[in-house]
Order: sequence, then C-alpha cells, then structure tokens
Amino acid sequence: MGKVITIANQKGGVGKTTTAVNLTAYFTYLGKKVLLVDTDPQANASSGIGVEIFRVEGNNIYQVLLGFKRAKDVILKLVRGSMEFHIIPSHPELAGAEVELINELAREFRLKRTMEEVKEKYDFILIDTPPSLNILTINALTAADSVLIPLQTEYYAMEGLTSLLKTIEKVTDHLNPALQIEGILLTMFDSRNNICHQVAEEVTRHFGWQVFETVIPRNVRLTEAPSFGKTIFEYDGKSKGAMGYQRLALEIVQKNQGIPA
Ligand code: ATP
Ligand code: MG
Repeated sequence: MGKVITIANQKGGVGKTTTAVNLTAYFTYLGKKVLLVDTDPQANASSGIGVEIFRVEGNNIYQVLLGFKRAKDVILKLVRGSMEFHIIPSHPELAGAEVELINELAREFRLKRTMEEVKEKYDFILIDTPPSLNILTINALTAADSVLIPLQTEYYAMEGLTSLLKTIEKVTDHLNPALQIEGILLTMFDSRNNICHQVAEEVTRHFGWQVFETVIPRNVRLTEAPSFGKTIFEYDGKSKGAMGYQRLALEIVQKNQGIPA
C-alpha cells in the first residue's frame, strides 16, 4: 500500500510545488512507484512537470472530486527517458470546486476515497496543495498518511504555522486520526545569510526531531526548471538544488523503512 504524503502550508511561495515535483523525480529515480496529485487550481505542479494544461480540461482532479470521473481515467503517464511520471493533473476549472463541494455529501472525504482506489499501485503518492486552508487542502490532509510542511527560511517563516498546526489538529480530531507529521522542511536556505541560520536554529529549537536533516538551498536552477516543464533531476541534476532534493528523497525513504537517515 502506498504512503500518501500531503505537502501543505497555506503561506504562498514557500516551495510546496517545487518539493512535490522534485520529490516525484527523485523517488522515481530511487525506483519507487510515485503518483503526483495536483490539488491547486494554479496547476503549477502539473505544468512544472510538463503537462500542457489546456489538454487536460475536462480530465483532471476537478472531475474526480466532483464524482464525474474515476482517478484511473485521468492519470497521465509522462515517459521521460528511462523514467515514467504519473500525475493526476489540475486545471484552473478546479477553482470552482470549493463552492460546488459545499452541498455535496462527505465533501471532506472525496480525495481520500479516490486515493483508496489507486493506493495499491504506488509506493508514494504526493499531493500538492494550494496556498490556503480551504476544502481542497482539507481534502488533501484527510486523504494523507502524513503531512510534509515546507518552510521558507526567512524572517517570517513561522508566521502562519500555528494556524496550519491547528488545522492539522482539527483534521486529526475529526476526519483523519491517523495523520502524522512527515517532517518540516527548510527551503530556500542561503548559507551566506545570517537570518537563514537564525531562522533554522529557531525552527529546530521549536520542532526538534520533526525538522528534516536535509535543508533545501536557495538555487536559481530550481526556479528555472519549471519553465521548461522539467524536474531538477532532468534540468540540472548536478545543481545544489538537485542534490538537496535527492538527499530529501533518500531521507524520507530511509525513515519510512525504519533506517536512520
Ligand atoms: P504557491 O503557494 O503559490 O503554490 P509554493 O509554496 O508551491 O507556492 P513554489 O511554487 O514551489 O512555492 O516556489 C515559489 C517560487 O520560488 C517559484 O518561483 C520557485 O521556482 C521558487 N523556488 C522554490 N524553491 C526554491 C529554491 N530552493 N531556490 C530558489 N527558488 C526556489
Ligand atoms: Mg504551489
């Protein structure tokens, strides 16, 4: 049975999508079967991994959440050299889902039911979420075995974390008692910047062992890759950003096999 990891932080631009796309690449590289699920109407994970968004109108996560389509009917398989990426893409039409789901039964469980249909085919399912704590993010947290929280290593990094943790607690209390924290990931770390070191220390002091050992450096190659619809593994596998995500994938795989990283 695959492990479902939701990548969430309602703060925008902290590295959720970059993490989702590049973990997909490195888990695949490590020989794992991975499904990337995009639940953000911005569809950045979909376009970042190379999906042409206009082609998936009518065949994306939106139709699945509303019950018009089955997951297996919208999974895209992107063949890239010796690798194959599997993705349930998003599309801007998903923006309507929040309102449309209000009157639906079991609206928080739509994604969970869907993941149950495909879970056995994968080792990891990674869910990218929008920068908000709306019904889409609640669906992603309800469907998850664990949540990975990227934090941008900057002065206001922990701002908003309290409301995210409260939401996670509410989901654990009412919707998904088994939900665990996979880890807190420091992103965009700049070793020349003193603030970054201070923030990293503070986050570690607060959250201790829950913080991943791997820290993702600030690296311009990570910014460039999505505009080519490529993962960092393909775009510049020797860059510092690539090394970071390779190490993170290994840390998560080892942790989940009970091996200390
Ligand atoms: P949103 O909340 O809008 O969905 P997000 O949390 O998914 O944003 P990303 O889209 O992954 O964040 O990253 C925000 C921007 O920062 C993007 O332009 C991305 O390319 C860039 N970026 C992410 N991680 C890094 C990094 N380690 N180094 C340099 N740039 C990065
Ligand atoms: Mg994003």
